[in-house]
This record gives sequence, structure tokens and C-alpha cells, in this order.
Amino acid sequence: MTEKPTGIIYDYIICGGGCAGLSLAYQMSNSPELSKKKVLILEKEAKDENDRTWAFWEHENGPFQEIVHHQWEKAWFRGNGFSRLLDMDPYAYKIIKGDRFYAFVKNSLAQNPNITIVQTEVLNKVDGQDNALVNTTSGEFKGQFVFNSIPEKVVKKPNHNYLLQHFKGWWVKTKTPFFNPQEPTLMDFRIVQDGQCRFMYVLPVSEFEALVEFTIFSESHLEPEQYNIELEKYFLEYLNLEDFEIVHQEFGSIPMFSEAFPKKQGKRIFNIGTAGGQTKASTGYTFTRIQRHSRQLVQNLSQTGSPMVETGLFQSRFEWYDNVLLHVLARNVVGGAKVFQNLFKYNKPASIFRFLDEDSHFLNEYRIMNTVPILKFIGPGWKELMNLGK
Ligand SMILES: Cc1cc2nc3c(=O)[nH]c(=O)nc-3n(C[C@H](O)[C@H](O)[C@H](O)COP(=O)(O)OP(=O)(O)OC[C@H]3O[C@@H](n4cnc5c(N)ncnc54)[C@H](O)[C@@H]3O)c2cc1C
Repeated sequence: MTEKPTGIIYDYIICGGGCAGLSLAYQMSNSPELSKKKVLILEKEAKDENDRTWAFWEHENGPFQEIVHHQWEKAWFRGNGFSRLLDMDPYAYKIIKGDRFYAFVKNSLAQNPNITIVQTEVLNKVDGQDNALVNTTSGEFKGQFVFNSIPEKVVKKPNHNYLLQHFKGWWVKTKTPFFNPQEPTLMDFRIVQDGQCRFMYVLPVSEFEALVEFTIFSESHLEPEQYNIELEKYFLEYLNLEDFEIVHQEFGSIPMFSEAFPKKQGKRIFNIGTAGGQTKASTGYTFTRIQRHSRQLVQNLSQTGSPMVETGLFQSRFEWYDNVLLHVLARNVVGGAKVFQNLFKYNKPASIFRFLDEDSHFLNEYRIMNTVPILKFIGPGWKELMNLGK
């Protein structure tokens, strides 16, 4: 699995063995049509650390159910003036830890002799008519198709909205039972908003242990210490918890950009993961979209030999919804606290999840849109319609 085989033409080269690269390889390896294809994964890190926790919702068990760390059927929404324990049925909110995911997928790939992982740094990729080349610090590799998950510099366009979802999470442990592992808090907007969209979430995995995370949607990061100060305040003022130990910390920053990530880099190089636009611009959720995109790529490769995934014109309405919400949040037309409070007050979580998964019907979308302060969305809606495709 770790030798450096040059000179072979691979069927598929995957640049970056993180969530998207490993998910795609996993689905290729499990596909009857593609499991014999020669696949090379080029990843610069060892990927054996718990560098992130993925949270997502599912209404049935997916391919990674056995490594789900914890799941919840109910969750709190908390805001000033409205708090409710929401029933997420038929969905469950789940978390997977990064190190478990990497180990699980790599163990599975190790059973397939056609899949090779090389730990190396990708320097550049060159598109060609019949093949693409990938230059690395370990030499040059050639593949029929290249799938790239390595982020590239984003070229920002005028009039588009570029927010970051940045967050700091503390995994904490208490000596005495404190948390209710059946009742996580999905969003707590009671904290000071400071003209931005800010919330906390609390994901308890036992009476003694929880992930508590402070999240902001804004254009730039805070000073590193500021995240800790806000978390400390939350523990004191809202959780009333003083005696705890921080056992692990994670920081992340997810681009909430629309239309910024090209799907292709020429004829033979396709982008996947965040680099390929699989982050939902309005929420930052990416894990489930990566799995869905990988499934589509595998299906297309199996059926047509080409990975191209087209977005239908009608389906692209979701891009418009994302742009409108981003516009509203980026320019604080309506505070995020108000938008999300209305969403959770007047809609069932299942409808919201279906909408965010882009599985909803137009009537359902119309109902959801009517629950936000609709008059304030009309101007941004029109501007973003004019912006589409520009
Ligand atoms: C801390 C954190 C928490 C997140 N939590 C959630 C969540 O709860 N739910 C959700 O849906 N999404 C979440 N996301 C967003 C998203 O799901 C993750 O970022 C996800 O890992 C994206 O997958 P990816 O493959 O695009 O990128 P990555 O997983 O980052 O993979 C890219 C890989 O490319 C490698 N690489 C980079 N440069 C090179 C190079 N030159 N040569 C070789 N390899 C290279 C990197 O080492 C990395 O392994 C989170 C993101 C972060 C950062």
C-alpha cells in the first residue's frame, strides 16, 4: 500500500486522501464495476489523528453506521424567546470522529490489491487529451482521470458573498454526571450576536462527556483566544458548569462560498470535496454531500466511463436559495438568530433536513420560505437571481 509505483497508468488518481478522497476510493472499491480499477491515492499526511468530528443527519443507516460515535433522535433549539426540544424523526443526528473514519476506510481499502496509497505532496496536475499527470515530491504519476480534493486559491468575484464558518470545539469531561446524552443542543442562539450569526452547540455522548462548540458565520476569523473566552462564558453563564476537563480541542474554518469552486480543471481532472463545491454554501455541511457526490461519480463511471455529473437547471434553484441566505447573513439584512429561530419554530426538523439535503419539493420549499421574514428576503432574492451564473 505504501510503495511508490511510477510508470503505471492508473485508471484513477485521487489527490488528497481526506474525507472526499477516501470516500470516493471506498465507494469505488465497493462497486462491482470499479473494484478492479487501478486507483492511486496521493496524500501528504499520515491521516491517523482525530483532526475533526463530522456531524450530519440521516434517515436510514449509511455505509459508516458502524463507526458512528453517537446519535440522537431529539435535539434542542434554543433562542431568546423560543426554545424547544425538537423531534427529528425519521432523521437522526450523528457524529463520526475523524481518526475512526480514516482507520475504517483505510482498513477496508487495504483488502483491495488494486488500491495504492502513497504519502507524498502533490505539486501540480497537468491535464491531457487521454491522461492527466500528477507531479509529486515522489515523482510523476499518470492516470486516466484525476479526482482532486486539494483546495486551490479561490478567485473571488464582485457582488458574491464569501462568508466563513469558523468554530472552536472543546471535548470536555466531568467527574460527576452532568450531561443528558439523549438531548443535544443543535443551535443555541442566546449568546451575544455582535452583528454576526453566532451560536453554540452541545453534543453530549454520555453523562460525563460532550463536544461543546462555538460557531460564527462571518468574513474573517477572531483572534485565537477570543473563541476560548466565548466558550468559557458559555460554560459559566448557560451551562452552569465550572468543574470540567478539556480533553481535546478542534478548530475549523469552512468556506461558505457559492459558485467559487469549479467542478473540473480541464478534460481529465475533476474536483471533489470542498475543493469541488461539495460544501453547502448556506450551512457548511459537507459530509453527506461528499458521500452523495462520490455515489454519483461511481455510478457515472460505471455506466458511461466518464465521471461528469451535471446539475439540472431545476436543481440549481438550491444554489439560488443558498445565495439568498448567504446574502442576508453576510449583510445582516436579518440576523441569523431570527432566521434560524423562525425556521425551527414553524417547520419540522424533517422538512428542514430534506430542504437542506436538496430532496424537497417546491411546495415544501415555498412553505419554508414563508416562515422567514419574507419581505426582507425579496431584495436579496432579486439581486442573487441577477447574479446567477455571473
Ligand atoms: C474541523 C472541521 C470540522 C468539520 N465538521 C464538519 C461537520 O460536522 N459536518 C460536515 O458536514 N462538515 C464538516 N466539516 C467540513 C467538511 O466536511 C470537511 O472539511 C471535510 O474534511 C472535507 O473533505 P475534503 O476531502 O474536501 O477535505 P479534507 O478532508 O481536508 O481532505 C483534503 C486532503 O488533502 C490533503 N492535501 C492537501 N494538500 C495536499 C498536497 N499538496 N498533497 C497531498 N495531499 C494534500 C490534506 O492533507 C487532506 O487530507 C468540517 C471541517 C473541519 C475543518
